[in-house]
Amino acid sequence: MNFMNRKELIRKYIDFFKSKGHKEIPNSGLVPENDPSVLFTTAGMHPLVPYLLGQKHPLGKKLCNAQKCIRTGDIEEVGDEVHHTFFEMLGNWSLGDYWKEDAIKFTLEFYTKILKIPKEKLAVTCFKGNKNAPKDIESADVWISLGIPKERIVFLGKEDNWWGPVGNSGPCGPDTEIFFWAGETKPPKEFNSKDKSWIEIGNDVLMQYNKNEKEDYNEARQKNVDFGGGVERILATINKLKDDYLTGCFLPIIKEIEKLSGKKYKGNEKAMRIIADHIKAAVFILAENIVPDNTEHGYVLRRLLRRAVKYAKEIDLKESINKLAIPVFSVYEDYPDLKKNRIKILNEIEKEEQKFRKTLERGINQFKKFSKNKKLSGEESFLLYQSYGFPIEMIEEECKKYNIRFSRENFEKEQKKHQELSRTAAAGRFKSGLSDSSEATTKLHTAAHLLLASLRQVLKDKNINQRGSNITPERLRLDFSFPKKLTEQEIKHIENLVNEKIKQSIPVIKEEMSPEEARRKGAAGIFDEKYGENVFVYLIGDFSKEICAGPHVKNTKELEHFKIQKEESSSSGVRRIKAILEDSS
Ligand code: ATP
Ligand code: MG
Repeated sequence: MNFMNRKELIRKYIDFFKSKGHKEIPNSGLVPENDPSVLFTTAGMHPLVPYLLGQKHPLGKKLCNAQKCIRTGDIEEVGDEVHHTFFEMLGNWSLGDYWKEDAIKFTLEFYTKILKIPKEKLAVTCFKGNKNAPKDIESADVWISLGIPKERIVFLGKEDNWWGPVGNSGPCGPDTEIFFWAGETKPPKEFNSKDKSWIEIGNDVLMQYNKNEKEDYNEARQKNVDFGGGVERILATINKLKDDYLTGCFLPIIKEIEKLSGKKYKGNEKAMRIIADHIKAAVFILAENIVPDNTEHGYVLRRLLRRAVKYAKEIDLKESINKLAIPVFSVYEDYPDLKKNRIKILNEIEKEEQKFRKTLERGINQFKKFSKNKKLSGEESFLLYQSYGFPIEMIEEECKKYNIRFSRENFEKEQKKHQELSRTAAAGRFKSGLSDSSEATTKLHTAAHLLLASLRQVLKDKNINQRGSNITPERLRLDFSFPKKLTEQEIKHIENLVNEKIKQSIPVIKEEMSPEEARRKGAAGIFDEKYGENVFVYLIGDFSKEICAGPHVKNTKELEHFKIQKEESSSSGVRRIKAILEDSS
């Protein structure tokens, strides 16, 4: 085994699968398109879902790539040697082309011939069968025929070796996972999948069945293979490091942490791993034009950054954590979005850090006071969350660390109480808004919907969301998420598009549905708890679809003529537009 770096590994993988007739597909964005059910891409197969379901892929039936992924669900495991929130996944796919035999052959050939991992250090798991599907003897037989001894094959149940379906129905099937012996000693003859020295380095998902709504499992018409393997773990394996953080994917960040804290990695592994992991994930999320916020993607980012700041404080990091983004840029110089957004990324990290550091010290003192008697009440935790900006997961973590009794339920009860209070306040505001449902404001309400839809279309960003609006009979003011100043030309385009939609005399239609359905249908809105059981969605042709309480005009032609008066910054990552309606004469 020769020393290999991240780029070489990826190159070797892609070249190998190309030599086996695969086409390389692009590394997709971290925010999945057309899938509001998850916040981030969690595996290479994510962008391929329509093709796994049978749609024809323009590049054919054999595909491969290296895909950037984020798994927020693994955040609590970060701190060990092998789990990260951000990682890269090698992937190869057969869309109804090759099946178990070739899939397993390719996987083993890549690991043993290309990466030169000794076969004696490998072991695999296969599906042991249940009432829905039989034991996957076929896969085990292929492994055996290729020289993996019986003692190194373990059959496990659905929790470990079964994939899918994603919803209630669809493709699903067994998988077969590959493990590498990272222990100091010679690998034991017999494979014990519970022994942590066996590290999972890859997984072939074999979509053999189709589950229908009646819970029947039938052989699938199109059988797919989906392989996924983590770049960081494979690199650690082939370089005999036993710790992903010592590979080139992390080491430059760890070294910078050592330098800026004056402390050694050894003895401070957990804190340094968390800081390095979170800063890297944050850099990649920021490169997608997401900024720290209190909902959805922005909240994940905020949590990552605040958690990094908290651990940085614990090890006395002397400078802003944004200094740690610099090595991230050099490790991932092949990602143009990082380079392009470099300055913005550095600024955003520093801003969020300053915001949090202001309250962190006082928050920690408050936390100590509150928890003197080894318990933290719902009210107290809510105060830490609300007034000191502590993400709730961080509060939970601190309580666990110091053995403090705390119930998330009580926190959530307290949170609900406050939401209800602010909801009542909002309802009050809304009432006064309604009482002013003059013809002029009603028109401007509809204009605001056309404006948001036009922003999304012209700026080519479906994720632009309303961040606030204020409408008087004279003008509308709309705050929306967008990272940079609009150009004159963009403003003109947006204005023209709104006017075009006004001219088209499109009826405005109101529908009532659950927030879940609205979200599924792609309606614009801020999906958090503030929605009740049902919401109104206003549709303007197929141009605009937005959750709103109204009121609105019956037809866009009533708006006559739309004009943008001003475009300016509102706060970080948020722009503000002021606009009016005029007689068309
Ligand atoms: P584990 O059980 O170790 O968490 P997994 O079963 O969740 O892994 P898969 O969903 O099969 O993993 O993903 C495919 C591959 O991606 C894994 O074999 C592993 O190499 C890598 N991988 C998965 N999760 C992570 C993570 N959080 N950090 C780094 N690599 C990961
Ligand atoms: Mg996992």
